[in-house]
Amino acid sequence: MVGKEQEKQEKLVQNNELTFLCKAVNLYKSNNYSHDIIIIGDIMKRKKLKKGIIITTVVFLLIVISIVFTNIFNTGSKKYYSDESIKVIKEEKLKDIYKEDYSKTLDEVLKNNKLKIEFIEEYSKIEYIDDKNFIDKINDYLDIGYNGKEINNIFKLSEKNQSKLLDLEKKEFTKYIGITNFNIDNLERYNDYLKSTNKDIQTVVTYVNINLDKPFYTDSKLVDNPDDLTIIVNKFNHLEKKFVPKDLVTLFDSKNGAKMVRPAAEAYKEFIEAAKKDGITLESTTAYRSYSFQNTLYTNYVAQDGVKEADTYSARPGSSEHQLGLAVDLNDPNVSGSRLDDKDYKWVLENSYKYGFIVRYTEAGVPITGYMEEPWHIRYLGIELATKVAKSGLTYEEYYDLYMAEY
Ligand SMILES: [Zn+2]
Repeated sequence: MVGKEQEKQEKLVQNNELTFLCKAVNLYKSNNYSHDIIIIGDIMKRKKLKKGIIITTVVFLLIVISIVFTNIFNTGSKKYYSDESIKVIKEEKLKDIYKEDYSKTLDEVLKNNKLKIEFIEEYSKIEYIDDKNFIDKINDYLDIGYNGKEINNIFKLSEKNQSKLLDLEKKEFTKYIGITNFNIDNLERYNDYLKSTNKDIQTVVTYVNINLDKPFYTDSKLVDNPDDLTIIVNKFNHLEKKFVPKDLVTLFDSKNGAKMVRPAAEAYKEFIEAAKKDGITLESTTAYRSYSFQNTLYTNYVAQDGVKEADTYSARPGSSEHQLGLAVDLNDPNVSGSRLDDKDYKWVLENSYKYGFIVRYTEAGVPITGYMEEPWHIRYLGIELATKVAKSGLTYEEYYDLYMAEY
């Protein structure tokens, strides 16, 4: 009975409150402010406050939950030193290691009992490489005097350079640390070239690798894989007299039977058609040239202008990209006097890489290629490589040496 009475009472209170609230809201809506409104305003404020507290609590809880979850996740992926390593850590009283982040290199050093205590701080700076001699190698480099960071750079070099460095004193190599195209076989030449130029060290290394510390055509090397579409033929790398590329096909627009290697010839057609769509008329003059044809051309130019002059615009036989069947000279039939006008050249520079070609002899490249600017001469490399070379702004010689050559 008592419970029911209480329930009744509560309902009554609730009803009264509701009636009061409705009244208040109506008054508020009609802008008829009164004492009642002030009271209802207070109630509403209190309710807002309550809402605020709830929101704050929810946000707080969400933060706590996310922190807990993040910790659980991290614990799951966090690596710990192996039991063998922990044993060494305890024996050697190296508890400080626990304060540092886990290092796979250090773990392997400890696990294999190869710790040299004096280098304890360097091990964790060395990025681990999956190589069975890795630990012995890093101990050897540490013995020579390299620090962890320098050792990471050494591991970017070829195996040959890495092992040859073991016979070199650190001071002989220090200034070349971090240069990825460093070739220890050229060390003496780098040092000599450095003395005779004010170029920066990276440029010195690249130029010497290209052979630019020697006059053009000195010690030219015979190309051993001439069918490789990415091969470099220039004043330091030549082709055999008898070399003729495989799968030469006649260009679709050729009036004189100009040929290129098939993928280059197919790309050339797309290139010329794209130019046409943009209102640029281009056609081929010569593409593949045999050794003997290049010989005739060069000999005539020498007779006309002398060797020095001829060398700036014509390749000696065996040293022409045209013998690869990957180069083509362009011509705009509407331009008299020169082969391309500025509008043509702009289009070629901006678009040739999209079809797999690069402009091989630019104005900036003159000291490197040894040829005057040739807007009309394009070389096929395939879309991927041509794009990278074009976007790098480098000559193909520099790009090849920095990113493709293996030393
Ligand atoms: Zn050419």
